[in-house]
Amino acid sequence: MKFISPRGTKDILPQDLIKWDNVERICRSLFKLYGFEEIRTPLFEETNLFIRSLGNTTDIVQKQMLNLQAEKPSLSLRPEATASVVRSYIEHDLFKTQGFAKLFYIAPMFRGERPQKGRLRQFHHIGVEAIGVNSAFLDAEIISLAYEILRRLGIENFQLKINSLGCKQDKESLAKNLKELLKKKISLLCQNCRLRFNKNIFRILDCKVKSCQEIVGNIDFKNDYLCTDCLQYSNEVKSALNKLNIPFKVMPHLVRGLDYYTHTVFEISHKDLGSQDAIGAGGRYNNLVKELGGPDIGAVGFALGFERILMVLKEQIPSVTSNDVFIATLGRLAFEQGFIILDKLRKAGVAAQIDFDFSSLKSQLRLANRLKSKLVVMLGDEELKQNIALLKDMATGNQERIVLVNLVEEIKKRL
Ligand SMILES: [Zn+2]
Ligand SMILES: [Zn+2]
Repeated sequence: MKFISPRGTKDILPQDLIKWDNVERICRSLFKLYGFEEIRTPLFEETNLFIRSLGNTTDIVQKQMLNLQAEKPSLSLRPEATASVVRSYIEHDLFKTQGFAKLFYIAPMFRGERPQKGRLRQFHHIGVEAIGVNSAFLDAEIISLAYEILRRLGIENFQLKINSLGCKQDKESLAKNLKELLKKKISLLCQNCRLRFNKNIFRILDCKVKSCQEIVGNIDFKNDYLCTDCLQYSNEVKSALNKLNIPFKVMPHLVRGLDYYTHTVFEISHKDLGSQDAIGAGGRYNNLVKELGGPDIGAVGFALGFERILMVLKEQIPSVTSNDVFIATLGRLAFEQGFIILDKLRKAGVAAQIDFDFSSLKSQLRLANRLKSKLVVMLGDEELKQNIALLKDMATGNQERIVLVNLVEEIKKRL
């Protein structure tokens, strides 16, 4: 019986992790600069939390939830983290203790959809949520953080698209406008979209069916659905982005598929990703905290797809984990001595490895080479008798005799 990883999942092997680590390190350092703190929430939540936050008519809730069987109340693996973070923020009264919270996560998410290119059942999000402040400048800060992450990772040719949905009332009048505009075309829409027309008209704008996209592409959008305040808010976001020199494109079609968005919505896409071209997306969600039983405060955030980032990351030469010292021994006694030296080196902060196989000196040196060891300690019966070790510098080929009691000190001097 041979097992393989479940469909739609992927092992992340050591050689891949070099890339993952790099991305994560850069993100973490930026989060610190921008004042975000890490939060970790459970991998699963009550299904109702997701229904309540994402909306019952969304594809995620309708088709993509990965539910845990036979649990009551029903539990689901999280399809995204915003709902979980807000749930945690409310549950732990963070608004009383912290007020304004800036939180980040780098974590796995789950969707139970049919696996396809670029879509996994377990995938990873790099995300932030800033909860407790309503400011157009904060929206701009969040967008600039996403932008800076991609820039620092060396990703080029990505496009930032933004739009404003306005407040709840504005969203309703936008829905009404859309209904008017699409009413005559309803027979030309796909079957799904015909259902969406009544249930949630915004989702038609996200339809992946080509004929629907053509119809949507021809709609003449006006942003006259925004009230005076929301129009001003939207202009403030845009002017703040201009001040930060962040290029963006206003896309009236961009509404994002989730119910909780208000005001600013944005998406970052990359042409190399094909038809599913979003690297990440985000926006403001001013009703969600209240909707989930918290205070009436606004929030804004984004999530970037970790795997999507890796797909557009320029090929980098993976840096193999380097190893300072390799200990090559010949014979059981020498190995035992080498094993103690290994421990002393590590306690002195030196990365060291030993060969456990008692293989030939030649193959041990080959292994040292593969591990990119800078120095090799060579130890056999002859050296043990004299209480010394041979120290070989792998770059120059130089060999020195070092008294064992001084070995760790001498090695540290040479690194
Ligand atoms: Zn408004
Ligand atoms: Zn459609």
